[in-house]
Amino acid sequence: NTRIVLNERPKAGPITDTTFRTETVDVPEVKDGEVLVKVVYTSLDPTQRGWINEGRSYLPPVDIGAPMRAGGIGRVLVSKDDSLKAGDLVQGMFSWQEYYVGSAKSMQKKQTPEGGRDVDHLGLFGMTGLTAYVGMFDIGQIKDGDHVVISGAAGAVGLTCTQIALAHPKCKVTVIAGNPEKLEYLKKLGAHNVLNYKDADFKQQFKNVGLIDLYYDNVGGAILDQALSQIAPYARIVACGAISAYNATKPEPIYNYFNVISMKATWKGFIIMDHADRYVDGIKYLAGLQKEGKLEYQYHVTEGLDTCVGTLQDMFAGRNVGKTVVKIARD
Ligand code: NDP
Repeated sequence: NTRIVLNERPKAGPITDTTFRTETVDVPEVKDGEVLVKVVYTSLDPTQRGWINEGRSYLPPVDIGAPMRAGGIGRVLVSKDDSLKAGDLVQGMFSWQEYYVGSAKSMQKKQTPEGGRDVDHLGLFGMTGLTAYVGMFDIGQIKDGDHVVISGAAGAVGLTCTQIALAHPKCKVTVIAGNPEKLEYLKKLGAHNVLNYKDADFKQQFKNVGLIDLYYDNVGGAILDQALSQIAPYARIVACGAISAYNATKPEPIYNYFNVISMKATWKGFIIMDHADRYVDGIKYLAGLQKEGKLEYQYHVTEGLDTCVGTLQDMFAGRNVGKTVVKIARD
């Protein structure tokens, strides 16, 4: 079993060539209640950068020497539990490795509908699609006619949020991303205003789009700060992610906090894993949107376990459009 393990904990800043190391170990024996899975796809997510830090978070840090935690989908090769059999498609925290052995209870059996793709269990109907759904509806309380602004708009979560907002009655949709090709694509999907946060006059461009009813924050930092300066009365701010801070050596200041009070805004954070009761509704909604031709979903796919680290680095450099996954094995 070839796997990528955490070699050292990076203090601050981006992951480096020595953060992880590759090793080959024997596949553990499968005990009663356990299953051996061949990992087919592994999910790459910005939050993995946080999982290798020390300190308090929503999950404990990955231990030094442990395989890098990652969601994945795979096929059961051997099962010693009645709930699963060889050949079943399963989803779980399989880590960056070729094979996973764990309790049957630690994974969910999946069925891919006719014409669907197995990888959708990690993207469109997986954590990132559902994050967009719960974030826009439950946390952001999207309303007809809202001016919705979405940062990180060409990424896995952002692309889904953008299309949910575009499908919502009478919403004006402003999107923010980091390169012209991404913005061109978002414009083609129907976004009303597209902003490149790397443009020299970004601040002025952002100001020109006017007051914001719903700000969907994937990046934090200076973009969030400016969004706070433009919130409308009773605005909602969805604190989904803060990728600009994950590799930062010191936090960026927020100057416009008082607007949350003076504009009587709601600023709410959430972690999608706490909203499992909404998954069925979310999948139904996203499937419906896709069927109506209102949801185009993109994957950024690389092949081979040895691409995991580089592809994660690429995600922080903005080289992905849509959901990033690595194909580990042929299914
Ligand atoms: P993405 O697919 O959006 O990939 C990350 C993107 O972030 C890059 O493509 C890049 O695009 C952008 N980016 C990178 N660095 C910066 C920066 N310094 N400033 C602004 N943008 C930057 O990732 P996901 O869709 O998977 O995740 C998006 C956010 O949602 C993350 O913050 C993540 O942690 C969060 N999240 C939260 C969840 C929750 O439960 N709360 C669940 C899942 C994700 P560009 O070219 O535009 O710079």
